Amino acid sequence: MHPNLNTAASIIEPLHLPIFAEKQLQVFIKRDDLIHPFISGNKWRKLKYVLRDAKAKQKTALATFGGAFSNHLLAVASAGATFGFKTTGFVRGEELEIKNPVLKMCHLFGMRLVFISRHDYREKTFYYQKYFTNDESVYYVPEGGSCLHAIPGVAEIALELIEHYDHIFTATGTGGTLAGLAQGVFERQLKTQVHGVAVIKGGDYLHQEIKQWIGEVPYNLHVDFHRGGYAKTDNELVNFARSFIRNTGIVIEPIYTAKMLMALTQLASSDFFKPHEKILCMHTGGVWGGHGLLF
Ligand SMILES: *Cc1c(COP(=O)(O)O)cnc(C)c1O
Repeated sequence: MHPNLNTAASIIEPLHLPIFAEKQLQVFIKRDDLIHPFISGNKWRKLKYVLRDAKAKQKTALATFGGAFSNHLLAVASAGATFGFKTTGFVRGEELEIKNPVLKMCHLFGMRLVFISRHDYREKTFYYQKYFTNDESVYYVPEGGSCLHAIPGVAEIALELIEHYDHIFTATGTGGTLAGLAQGVFERQLKTQVHGVAVIKGGDYLHQEIKQWIGEVPYNLHVDFHRGGYAKTDNELVNFARSFIRNTGIVIEPIYTAKMLMALTQLASSDFFKPHEKILCMHTGGVWGGHGLLF
């Protein structure tokens, strides 16, 4: 079976926030979070051709790495169960401190979890080799799922756009989603600017990564909206996310989508956009991993 999930559930809805009305911007959100309850939207996009490659190479198992709240780990666990791969997840952190719903779901999907201390996690490849040397059945998926095979799946987003947008925004962690979007827009020759909002500190290094996957294809990366770094939150961000949920009925989490949306409102108030421009932002999913931070 070729791994596939229907992405038709990813509808595009208008987003009405006061600042967008004030600046006369038309803003929409693409609901990749609706593609699957556990395979987070962009993680499915990135996994699609990775899994096809694994099938083509007749691999029967997947191994990957992630943090204790990693949407990527959960996506791999769920996709493995769905498409018939055994899965191993190397988790950053001690087992005792980790009893969270994300890892419990990974376990329920049959993922073998191997815990690695924060210190040893830097020697990731050592662990991979220790467990899987000479094991030809295992396919290695990089942490976060970003790699060359991740690009075409994300690029397919561009095929789903019917109307013209002046800008598309996504949250950016490892850069695979941004790269895939840029590639898709480029291939379809759309006149749309593609933007990533880095949710990590020091995001400039991502340019090198992205270049490996898409060469000179253009995109914009905003590196000043990380709010202290990966998974760092503050009252303003948490309140923004809470009131967004209350006012739209759309659940977002503060690690990715809320940070991106807040950046979008800040760019709007500083007149980064021209009046009447049309902006699409991606809801990349991941609600399982992060919304606990809002309770
Ligand atoms: C992983 C993730 C991202 C980041 O995607 P990259 O391709 O790593 O940049 C964005 N949003 C959500 C919800 C995620 O889980």
